[in-house]
Amino acid sequence: MNNIKQLKCTLCNESYTDDSLYTCPTCGEKGILEVEYNYHQIKPLLTKEILQKDTRNNIFRYSPLLPITHVPSNTLQVGWTPFYKSSNMGAFLKMKNLYFKDDGLNPTSSLKDRASVIACVKAIEKDKQIIACSSTGNAASSLAGNAARLGLQTVIFVPERAPIGKLLQMLAYGANVIKIKGDYKDAFEASKSVINKYNLYNRNAAINPYLVEGKKTVALEIAEQHKFEPIDNIFVSVGDGCTIYSVYKGFYDLNQIGLINYMPTIYGIQAEGCAPFYTAWKNNTPLKETDEKTIADSIAVGIPRWPVKGLKAVTETTGEFITVTDQEILQASYQLAKQEGIFCEPAAAAGVAGLIKAVQSDIIQIDDTTVVIITGNGLKDANAINNIITPAIHISKNELLQKIQKSQNTPSITHIIQGIQKEEVNYNE
Ligand SMILES: *Cc1c(COP(=O)(O)O)cnc(C)c1O
Ligand SMILES: [Zn+2]
Repeated sequence: MNNIKQLKCTLCNESYTDDSLYTCPTCGEKGILEVEYNYHQIKPLLTKEILQKDTRNNIFRYSPLLPITHVPSNTLQVGWTPFYKSSNMGAFLKMKNLYFKDDGLNPTSSLKDRASVIACVKAIEKDKQIIACSSTGNAASSLAGNAARLGLQTVIFVPERAPIGKLLQMLAYGANVIKIKGDYKDAFEASKSVINKYNLYNRNAAINPYLVEGKKTVALEIAEQHKFEPIDNIFVSVGDGCTIYSVYKGFYDLNQIGLINYMPTIYGIQAEGCAPFYTAWKNNTPLKETDEKTIADSIAVGIPRWPVKGLKAVTETTGEFITVTDQEILQASYQLAKQEGIFCEPAAAAGVAGLIKAVQSDIIQIDDTTVVIITGNGLKDANAINNIITPAIHISKNELLQKIQKSQNTPSITHIIQGIQKEEVNYNE
């Protein structure tokens, strides 16, 4: 891989060229390795003209900036997800330049596909037939789907609370699923032992240096889809901290090869019931283990595995961490669905809730160009929205026709439906 210079330990700064390492041999498990590229070699391979002519609607259009030796032809179509200018929410918030990157439209419906497909390609490079990971849900279902496509097997460790939609999804893809009695921390520890014992390919974002390289393509796409024009703010939800760092890395790489000459300010959103990054950032203390109390399961991470890098994405860009309550998350999810037609899962809605809070508390300016990354699809955990939506009216055909008859003077069917809704609410109260 002559596009790659070396792997560098994020703790001790030692460099390595052995690409089968997961973590730093000196620092052990906490010594996450970072991929460093030969930017001068990549620069002529990734110009605006070349990208314009590239017809691949997937992350492999950026292959010179990816840690792979060959570009596979039979993967699922990962990436090149929609980048929408806000239709109604921007006007509601009085923002002129609000955008949504809808990564819920990836093949298994979350941003994790960007990492999983790279993990699968690396496993094939290393002649490994079985890939394993622990996950709160999305990394697992994503790995299962991408592996199924490429004929690889998966062993997956999930915490008990993994939402049923995600669990059924990974089982449908044929994964070997182990539901650990306990939380994500327990699932992670269990996976570690089994992966070591059976020498499986490891898709744990906490360990594997290549996953962030896959995830960073979300930033590469945002920049390209915005025509390489400056972007002021990026909002993204934070669990392990790997995704937010990958956003930083993507923009960093683009600066290095001269495709852009700005860095956006990056805002990390956490749930109030599980906010180790926020607390550490706010108090300028090391990250401390916390409870995992939030409906946003994908960001309920009590011991984040990317503490240093996750913090760096925010501090280096003079961003902020912001916390939001579960109620705010659900409200934001409902608002995004109603105002933009984008239905997202709670962890993704946290980013939207963070945006709303940032606007209301003047953390960002309403004239700024602002992008919210929608990290996962609402159908993953559709039940979460159940407590907040207005339910369907439930009525017999005859009763409905009678009510319509009686409402001759009501101008529209939507008014009649709303009338019936009000009656039902009064009745139930
Ligand atoms: C994984 C995930 C996140 C957070 O990513 P981290 O790397 O854990 O910080 C946010 N939203 C969704 C939907 C996810 O699946
Ligand atoms: Zn080290």
